[in-house]
Amino acid sequence: MLESVMKAWWESSHMAGGNAAYVEELYEAYLDDPQSVSQEWRTIFDQLPKVNGVELETNHSQIRDQFRTMAKLGPMSRVATAVSGASGGDEKQVKVLQLINAFRFRGHQHANLDPLGLWKQERVRDLELSHHELSEADFDRAFNVGSYAIGKDSMPLGELFKSLNRTYCGSVGAEYMHITNTEQKRWIQQRFESVQAKPEFDRDTKVGILKGLVAADGMEKYLGSKFPGAKRFSLEGGDALIPMLKNLITHAGTNGAKEVVVGMAHRGRLNVLVNVLGKNPSVLFDEFAGKHDESLGAGDVKYHAGYSSDYATPGGNVHLALAFNPSHLEIVNPVVMGSVRARLDRRGCSDGSTVVPITIHGDAAIAGQGVVQETFNMSQTRAFAVGGTVRIVINNQVGFTTSKREDTRSTQYCTDIAKMVQAPIFHVNADDPEAVIFVTQLALDYRNTFKRDVVIDLVCYRRHGHNEADEPNATQPLMYQKIKKHPVPREIYADQLLAEGIIDKHEVEKMVSDYRAALDHGACVVEEWRPMTEHSVDWSPYLGHDWDVIYDGAITIDKLRELGEKIFSYPESVKLNSRVNKVYEDRKAMIAGEKPLDWGCAEMLAYASIVDLGKRIRMTGQDSGRGTFFHRHAVLHNQKDGSTYMPLQHVREGQGPMEIYDSVLSEEAVMAFEYGYSTAEPGCLTIWEAQFGDFANGAQVVIDQFLSSGEAKWGRLCGLTLLLPHGYEGQGPEHSSARLERFLQMCADHNWQVCVPSTPAQVFNMIRRQMVRPMRRPLIVMSPKSLLRHAMATSSLEELAEGVFKSVIGEVDEINPTKVKRVVMCSGKVYYDLLDQRRKNEQDDVAIIRIEQLYPFPHAEIAEVLEAYKHVQDWVWCQEEPQNQGAWYCSQHHFWSAIPDGARLTYAGRSASASPAVGYVSIHNQQQKALVDDALSIK
Ligand code: AMP
Repeated sequence: MLESVMKAWWESSHMAGGNAAYVEELYEAYLDDPQSVSQEWRTIFDQLPKVNGVELETNHSQIRDQFRTMAKLGPMSRVATAVSGASGGDEKQVKVLQLINAFRFRGHQHANLDPLGLWKQERVRDLELSHHELSEADFDRAFNVGSYAIGKDSMPLGELFKSLNRTYCGSVGAEYMHITNTEQKRWIQQRFESVQAKPEFDRDTKVGILKGLVAADGMEKYLGSKFPGAKRFSLEGGDALIPMLKNLITHAGTNGAKEVVVGMAHRGRLNVLVNVLGKNPSVLFDEFAGKHDESLGAGDVKYHAGYSSDYATPGGNVHLALAFNPSHLEIVNPVVMGSVRARLDRRGCSDGSTVVPITIHGDAAIAGQGVVQETFNMSQTRAFAVGGTVRIVINNQVGFTTSKREDTRSTQYCTDIAKMVQAPIFHVNADDPEAVIFVTQLALDYRNTFKRDVVIDLVCYRRHGHNEADEPNATQPLMYQKIKKHPVPREIYADQLLAEGIIDKHEVEKMVSDYRAALDHGACVVEEWRPMTEHSVDWSPYLGHDWDVIYDGAITIDKLRELGEKIFSYPESVKLNSRVNKVYEDRKAMIAGEKPLDWGCAEMLAYASIVDLGKRIRMTGQDSGRGTFFHRHAVLHNQKDGSTYMPLQHVREGQGPMEIYDSVLSEEAVMAFEYGYSTAEPGCLTIWEAQFGDFANGAQVVIDQFLSSGEAKWGRLCGLTLLLPHGYEGQGPEHSSARLERFLQMCADHNWQVCVPSTPAQVFNMIRRQMVRPMRRPLIVMSPKSLLRHAMATSSLEELAEGVFKSVIGEVDEINPTKVKRVVMCSGKVYYDLLDQRRKNEQDDVAIIRIEQLYPFPHAEIAEVLEAYKHVQDWVWCQEEPQNQGAWYCSQHHFWSAIPDGARLTYAGRSASASPAVGYVSIHNQQQKALVDDALSIK
């Protein structure tokens, strides 16, 4: 039977010598899971250990060579060799290797992961001897263990079976066989199997772990007794997080990390702040008592607070930053990644080795929130890679009040999403803190070695309700009956150390009372805490400035020409697409003074002038290199070979770095990443560009919870610029509006700037202002589409060189103010429609004023421009957006304050509408004509 199968196989067309790679691939699949290949192939591969003495899981290249040799040998010799070795005993040997593989694949399903013992585990037959036609009768027989990394070539089956159970079904459940990269898999196997997932820790480490648990428990008990009923989102149940984080940071520092950035939600945060970051407990107690730092404006609840400190490790001090966090779960993850990327860039570290991101997730949230998927997708991309993130799930097995797995997710584990990037996942029972420390070090080493994400699923429970005022028995009665009787992690581990004779009862009691005394004393409880000296940027030059701070933005025309010559040229070897070539030829003519400048030219010059100052620029967006509307072409694509060339990277030796990336197709995570980047790097002009402005809707959480309010809540400055294409050009509901009204509605406290530049000179000076001025606040730009090529929207080099962004632009035509009967105020593209129509009408009784910065409203500038129209009683705000949108409702109070007392202010624009714009071009055109006519016709 076998012989005929082999013959058929070998003589089949698959088996031409050129198909060695195919067979090799099949063989790899077979090694990972024998069931993943057909019965035919399995039968053949099962014989391989006896073919020329090559073992099953031998290294890849040997196997490949083996297949090649076989291809040369011809069918019959191969078959003969294979068949000669197929004795009964060797079939068992193959089964043993399959058993090892089964444990590697599915051992986690039998692991002891749930401290409460409530998980109902399915019986996995592959983990039973009988499934592999083995039995206890074979226990004494020694088998070759293949690649099982126990440090022996062979073992009696009984010993092997015990070892497999200990390694793969103990307190750690390892999921890593979904990784296709053999090196990574072998690396994990080596680390796991060599110590049977249970390394021996020395006394100091064990005592250190206990101290961490004492601190975790002591902190919560203390808060619980001092501030009963106050919300603290207790860590209790997940206490292992504290020794885990401390160990992780120490291990990171020992391995060369200089900074660690942590993101986490509210659960356990106060504990982490005090017991890891070293926040002074007395400050926290004051916060419980209602005191707060007056400098922080609106402020935020204490369990959202960030913190920074340094932490001593054997490798030197490590700077720690815990990111501020809103209640919106999981959104902090891309923020942390962005912050890490900024720090890595500042250190000139491209492999992620010096800065480590740690993100701490909830079990319901990691499975439920889409932004997690976005960050996994970003994790290996050019623009967003950070050398891997260590992701920890505090898996308390309940999401608020949802505990049934069939209600919270559709997968067995909450961490299955991580498989999309083939991240290894280590589930660990949080009541076994040594197992926790084992996987923690393993996870960090994996991240450092392979520069990829890794996940630790800390399976624990939540001792109280969602918060301390909550009654969890109402919704989770069985779970909480169990929790009530369950000893705290400190007790469990102290008992273990007592039993091991590592520590005596008296020492444990002293540890507990010393910790309590330290809290009473109100001093920092983290021995490793150090005053902050290791963070790499000084924010003080940017503190205390407002948008109207005086700065010198002027630039000479010679300099503009010099920059233009650099960035509008490229090596001869770069062959441009003819349309792009035309853009570049035009730009050369523009800087030579032969043509007025267009938008793209001015924007590119702005960037060149900034990198020329030695500052960094980072721009991401789905189509940023080219520009959605074909106007930018900052990245040139060589038509000969597809290579790219970025002229802005060739401005001068020693210039600032210039990075433009076409981003992954995400708004939420990408914008959050850029927020994180810009809050960590004031020396970079960080820009996120929407393809169309309303795509920013997908990032509304970032806009609401971070950009608009981050400074007010947390005192964190951010200079992020959003370029949001906006304008009514008949492209329908989704491509017209960047939802200006939403940004305006969130304006207060000078929290950000909302600008609608209408000329190339304005965009040039607006971009430069954002960087040259020492103020760092978000800049929201309603950027143009058709204006990019509008014949009237041009500027001269002289206008660029003025170096001033005009918040208000007065009348440009020769109109005698005394003849003016009506003043029309507007922003953006509609200005050109109004101007064009007024010229056609040959009107001289209407002045048109552009407000280029809607917020902070430029009261002084507008007063100056409107001085000449004090006699005018008829004032109009004209906009393209429907009446319930655009600036009319949100900025009207500013318009009223700008016009003379007693004057009339009316609206010219589209009627209120549920949809941002009509879908039919003909109706759009009618509406546009009507609103322009309305604005210009004096009744
Ligand atoms: P970090 O490196 O994030 O831990 O920050 C270290 C210190 O720099 C903080 O404690 C703040 O004093 C300051 N800092 C960091 N980021 C900002 C920011 N976005 N705005 C203002 N100050 C900041």
